[in-house]
Amino acid sequence: MKLRAQLVLQLGGRLPAACQLPEGYRLEIVSPEDTCPDCGRGLRRNRTSTHQPVGLMLGRPCVRRVQKGCPDCGWTEPRDGYRQLVPPGGNYAFDLIVEVGLARFRDLKPDTEILEQLEQRWGLTLPRSAVGLLSHSFLDGLAAVHQVRLPGLRAQLEEDGGYAMHLDGTCEPGTEVLFAIVAAPRSWTLQAAKMTSENVGEISQLLKACVESVGSPVAVMHDLSPTIRQAKEAVIPDVPDLICHYHFLENVGTKLCEKPHTKLTQAVRRLKTRPALANLRKDIVRWNRRGKSPISPQRMEELLSHPEGAKDLDLVPCGGWWPISCCVGWTTSARICAASIFPSICRAWPSTAVPAAWASG
Ligand SMILES: [Zn+2]
Repeated sequence: MKLRAQLVLQLGGRLPAACQLPEGYRLEIVSPEDTCPDCGRGLRRNRTSTHQPVGLMLGRPCVRRVQKGCPDCGWTEPRDGYRQLVPPGGNYAFDLIVEVGLARFRDLKPDTEILEQLEQRWGLTLPRSAVGLLSHSFLDGLAAVHQVRLPGLRAQLEEDGGYAMHLDGTCEPGTEVLFAIVAAPRSWTLQAAKMTSENVGEISQLLKACVESVGSPVAVMHDLSPTIRQAKEAVIPDVPDLICHYHFLENVGTKLCEKPHTKLTQAVRRLKTRPALANLRKDIVRWNRRGKSPISPQRMEELLSHPEGAKDLDLVPCGGWWPISCCVGWTTSARICAASIFPSICRAWPSTAVPAAWASG
């Protein structure tokens, strides 16, 4: 199997017919050991079972798996050859799990593309539901490998002279919080967990697990969240506590610009920017499909920089022109509006002759 893997992995593109294994070919997996490693007596066949695994190197065989044991001392094979190819409780081989996991999480491919890739390269046809299953198995395996390798990560971080612990959670509205602990400057994610909310109990638990596995950090960096601060105080009170500069400025900025921001949002809504841009996009797409646009990209660029030039637009072939006028008009209106909200910022904006109709609208 190793030799086959070495040969097959050197080939790009679709596997040649000579490398495709016939479906349902018979394979017997039996350990070459004949004597018991504990007492030296001869081993006997303990159990025989059949399996129909699926894998990149295995193809789709019918496997007869033979497990051996010692009749005298009761020793049994801890991990026979079959378990090196296929994980317990499943029929998909490790190499297939890794192929799908990398396609999904590294290459960000959708299910259909992954299935096509398996079919085209390996001649394997899988049900669509298999992609989700294999992706989850890949993540479970990755988490297990991460746990096993934590002592190695700890040794490297100690050799570096320690690490700074960065803590933060992120979520989309209506979803759980994904909370991560990252070691700087390595950018290694040491622990991550999903939480119902950023609460002291769950953050403390994650912090404890991290400190137990890789040791205490030299400093902790986080945003101004009171729950993170409380969890940090509960688990590692003596470690210097730092506030992230970005989050600090963001919070200050939010407070300082709260009122002008609300005004700007209201102004943008009043100007109906979104529907105007959506219409413009729709028309541009339509023109492109027809293969002719009434206005060149350069001309559009010019109009957006100098909206007053739109006064001279020939509006007779009005079919597709009005969205451009709207857009250019909106740019001017937005400029006037923004100038009233942020006078100091907009002083630097080049002043232009604004058509009276737009200024009043
Ligand atoms: Zn024995």
